[in-house]
Amino acid sequence: MSWLAHKRRRSRTSKYPFMINFELWNECNAQCTFCRTLDGDIYDQNPSNSGTVPVPKGKMSLELYKDVIDQAKDHLLIAVLYVNGEPLMYNGLYDAIRYASDRNVATVISSNGELMTESNSRKLLESDLDFLKVAISGFSDETVLVQHRTCHIEKIKENLKRFAQLIWEGNYRTLVMVDYVDYQYNSHEKEAARQFCADNGFVFNARPGNLFHLEDDHPDLLAKEKPPHSVDLPLNDLCEWPWKVMTINWNGDVFPCCDYVVWNDVEPLARLEAGKTDLAAVFNGESAAKNRFVHATQGRKAIDICALCPRTDTAFKY
Ligand code: SF4
Repeated sequence: MSWLAHKRRRSRTSKYPFMINFELWNECNAQCTFCRTLDGDIYDQNPSNSGTVPVPKGKMSLELYKDVIDQAKDHLLIAVLYVNGEPLMYNGLYDAIRYASDRNVATVISSNGELMTESNSRKLLESDLDFLKVAISGFSDETVLVQHRTCHIEKIKENLKRFAQLIWEGNYRTLVMVDYVDYQYNSHEKEAARQFCADNGFVFNARPGNLFHLEDDHPDLLAKEKPPHSVDLPLNDLCEWPWKVMTINWNGDVFPCCDYVVWNDVEPLARLEAGKTDLAAVFNGESAAKNRFVHATQGRKAIDICALCPRTDTAFKY
């Protein structure tokens, strides 16, 4: 239904989205260059602001998360349990995964891999996680520390090898993908990472890096990078997200996609309250329908955040 509604540019879409992104907690232990300061303040990506006020932090209640899953479970294919934070820092993560798994909703998380201790790894597998992405930005400490400023690749490799062993021992079905964040400065280590994945039964993927704030610590490196998206933004592409996906921020704010959670001063489509909000009414409510109408009739240029967006489909999340 959502596919048809998108193709026909309808303002109404399916009763529920096929995928929901949950920002369980936007705290992180990696302090990546493009995302936040070394003190952990998340950059506001809205260019209309001065950039001096960080994105507010907070945790989603499990009560709200479970309420959303309960409402959407018969329609929802995938629950993505991260947006901008490290999901392994959220205490209720294993409960959240198990809750979705028990209701036949697939779960996806993306981690930097640093906190995948043996105990955490066992809990992920036992809660029946479907898909784990681990983002790395190199294969030596010297390279990784450029972007992932507080991560240690040898520890991450050790964690990943143990995870592969645990999958094999327990015959778990969790699929692991190592997501190599591609820059010019780390390209010489990509093949080693690819080989590591082949040796451990992981999927290997490479995707463009993010140059935002790279110049703060590494102006020399930035000079050699090619901006990945600045030349050809897909302005004529009809974005799929408003028709197919919902993103829920930690405070219950609903957005069409995950990019909105790092823009201060942008109105949500609605704010959910556990036990009170009808999710279907929000997904086809006035604000969501208006957002789709603007996409369908005026395109991405009519919405500030969309005019700068490089995404062309929903698949990068899974
Ligand atoms: S164009 Fe980009 S920013 Fe706008 S809704 Fe689509 S994915 Fe989100």
